[in-house]
Amino acid sequence: MFQRIIKSVRCEFSSLGISFYLLWWFFHPLSVVVVVGFFLIPFFIEYLKEVIAFGCLTVLLMGLYAFTPRAMKFLVYISSFLLLSSLSFVKLSFFHLYGVKISASALFVIFETNASETSEFLENYLNVPIIILFLLLFMPLIWLLVFKRKKAKQFKFENTRKKPPIKIVLLLALIIVSGFIIQWKFKNENILLNSFSSYQEYSKTKEILASQLAKTENNLVSDATNSDDEAAYVVIIGESTSSWHMQLYGYKRETNPKLVEIKNELVLFNNVITPNVHTILALEKILTFTNFENPKPNQNASVVQLANAAGFETYWISNQQPVGIHESISTIIGNAAKNKYFIATEGYKYTIHDGALLPIVEQVLQEKKKKKLIFLHLIGTHVAYYKRYPKEFEFFGTLSRPDLDKKANEYINTYDNATRYNDSIIRAVIDKVKLLDTNSYVAYFSDHGDDVYDEANIAGHNEYLGTKPMYEVPFMVWFSEKYYKNSESYSKKEALKQRAYNLEDFMYSFAEISRIKFAQMDSTRSVFSNQFIERPRLVKDGENYDKK
Ligand SMILES: [Zn+2]
Repeated sequence: MFQRIIKSVRCEFSSLGISFYLLWWFFHPLSVVVVVGFFLIPFFIEYLKEVIAFGCLTVLLMGLYAFTPRAMKFLVYISSFLLLSSLSFVKLSFFHLYGVKISASALFVIFETNASETSEFLENYLNVPIIILFLLLFMPLIWLLVFKRKKAKQFKFENTRKKPPIKIVLLLALIIVSGFIIQWKFKNENILLNSFSSYQEYSKTKEILASQLAKTENNLVSDATNSDDEAAYVVIIGESTSSWHMQLYGYKRETNPKLVEIKNELVLFNNVITPNVHTILALEKILTFTNFENPKPNQNASVVQLANAAGFETYWISNQQPVGIHESISTIIGNAAKNKYFIATEGYKYTIHDGALLPIVEQVLQEKKKKKLIFLHLIGTHVAYYKRYPKEFEFFGTLSRPDLDKKANEYINTYDNATRYNDSIIRAVIDKVKLLDTNSYVAYFSDHGDDVYDEANIAGHNEYLGTKPMYEVPFMVWFSEKYYKNSESYSKKEALKQRAYNLEDFMYSFAEISRIKFAQMDSTRSVFSNQFIERPRLVKDGENYDKK
C-alpha cells in the first residue's frame, strides 16, 4: 500500500521533470528550518510564519525549475539549492545568535560594515553550533561533490515527456500563488525582499546625508556666531567603551589610572546613555540634529558644520577606516571639516593604535589659527580588543572571573587593557591642550559600550540584546582655567553631573560649551544649561530606556 503511494507520487513528479531524489534536495533546507527552527525560534506563531514563508519560496523555485529548459536545469537546480540553503543559514544563525528575526535595521548595519569589521565579527561569533548548522545545510552538496561525482551525472534532468495542459496550469498556479502569498503576508520573513527594500532605503538615506552633511557650508546653521577671541576646543569620539568597565565609574579594576589622577578637574557625567548601540545609528543622532522625535529631518546639519558656520577652523582626525561598502556615516560627517586626517586608510590591517593620532593632534594644536575645533575619532576599544593596545599595555592577565571560562576571561582582560590604553590617550590629549594655557575644553564620550560578560554571555554589542553596558557610556569634559574666566564654572554644579541625559541631544550641549549661538538652539536639550529639562530617554526603535 505504502509503496504504491510512493510509486504514484514518484510518477507524478517525474512527469514534471522532477525525480524523487531531486525533490528531497529541494526540500532539504526547508526541513532544516522546520526541525532546527523549532528549537531556535522563540514564539510558535513566529515559527509557523517562518516555515510557511520558506515553504512558499521553496515551492516557487521548484515550479520555476520544472519550467527550465533541459540545458539549464542543472544550473538552476544547484543555484536554487544554494540560495535556499544560504537563506536558511542566515535566518537560523541570526535566531541562534540574537534570538530574533533578522531585521531591516540589522541589514542596514551590515551594509555599513567594511571587510575587516566583518572578519572581526566572524572571529567573534563563529562558534560550534553555527558551524554544525552550516554543515547540516550544505551537507548534501558537499557529499555529492566530494564523494558522489558519478551520482551527479545520473541526475535525471529529463525534459518532461510532454506535460499534460492541466499540469502546466496547475504548476503555473502554484508559482503564482506562492509568489503572491510571500508578497502579501510574508515580506518580512523573506530576506531577499527585505534586503532589497532595506538597501533602497539605506542608499536613499546615504544620499540625503551626503548631500546635506558632507559639505562645509549648511544653510540651516547660517546664523551661528561665536564671540571667543581665541579657542582650542577638542571633542573626542570614543568607540565601544562602556562606563561599566571604567574605574572612574566605579569598576573594580584600575582601568583609568591617568584620568583618576585628574578626577577633580573633570566634569564627569554619571547618568548618560547612547541612543543606539551601533556606531552608525548612534553617531547619526549624536553628531547631527537627528533624534527619535525627528528621525529623518529634511534639513539636517552636523556639529562640524555648526562649528564651521560659527567661524572655527575645523579638524577631523580619525583612526577609523574611511571606507565601508560605501563611505561610512562618520566619514560623511567628518568630510565637512576644513582639515581632514584619516590615518587608517591602509585597507585590511586595521591595527593602528590610537596613539598614532597624538602627533597629529600636537601639530594641529600648534597651528596658528585663532579658533580651532578639533574632532578626534578613536578606534577606542572596538573588537578585536587585543589589537587595540601596544604590548606595554598588557596589564590585566589574571582569571578575574572564576565563574567564567578561560576564553571569557581573556576577552575581559583584553577589553580592560584596551580601556586602560584608551584612558592614557584621553589623558594625553588633555595634557597637550592644558599646556597651551588658552581658552579650551576637551570633551569625551563613547558612541556606545560593549557588554563583556557583564549582563549578556558575549563580548560585543548588538541592539537585539541591547544590554545596559552597551547603552551606558562615559561622558566627561575637562575645561581650562582660562575657559572659566568667561563663564561660570560647570565643575561647581554637582547636580549637573547626575542629570539623566541621552547623547542624541549632544549637538545642543556641544553648542553651549563651544559658546556657539544659532537660531535652532534648544537650551532645554543642553545638559550644561540652567534651562535643561529631563525628558524620556528613547533608545533602539523608540523604547523608553528608563522603563526597560
Ligand atoms: Zn561603535
